Amino acid sequence: MVTSLRHKVLIIEDEEKISDIISIYLLREGYTVLKGRTGAEGLKKMRESPDLIILDLKLPDMDGEDLCVMIRSDSDIPIIMLTAKTHEDDRVRGLLIGADDYVLKPFSPKELMARVKVRLMRAGNGQIILSFNNGGLLIDKNNHEVKVHGNSVSLTPTEFKMLYVLAKNHDKVLTRLQLTNIVLGYEFDGYDRTIDAHLKNIRHKLGQPDYIKTVYGVGYRFNCTLDEN
Ligand code: CA
Repeated sequence: MVTSLRHKVLIIEDEEKISDIISIYLLREGYTVLKGRTGAEGLKKMRESPDLIILDLKLPDMDGEDLCVMIRSDSDIPIIMLTAKTHEDDRVRGLLIGADDYVLKPFSPKELMARVKVRLMRAGNGQIILSFNNGGLLIDKNNHEVKVHGNSVSLTPTEFKMLYVLAKNHDKVLTRLQLTNIVLGYEFDGYDRTIDAHLKNIRHKLGQPDYIKTVYGVGYRFNCTLDEN
């Protein structure tokens, strides 16, 4: 299992017994294991750049579905949901909010391992470049590179993350609180004007203040047109 050695799998699950069983199987397959017992812990572990998430639907501090939406807003990491729900509607909903797959509890660890392997294989060659305004703005997620009309723009990691989150959600208005949670972390409780300062820098560096619109009293909206592939 040479290929899987490099892969980190994050288990977000409060039931220790289940988390331990999954962990044993993952370790046996050669994966590195990260664990979070709550949604907040899971988000914290996201900073260690896992390659895949196994997410339980029922967590003590938040709904697994909400957490999935939060993670999905700025990451394309494969997510496999663990769910005890049996109604088809719930499963469909899980897939709609961005989970890549789901496994019903009680589950066979072997089946889960097979699904982990498939998801990691599919994710392996995903290069993500967002292109806007007929190529006028390019955002390369893997290389943290931004180009405006062919010229590279140097952003700090936080600025890049913020621009990427706004671009990824180009059809939505993001509130300052949403941006703070996603960009600075769920537990960040500092003064939310930090976001404004980052935004000012991004606008300045892009040389295109119109790319990000302020929606007064609500938040921010990305103001570029996504190119068709
Ligand atoms: Ca649970």
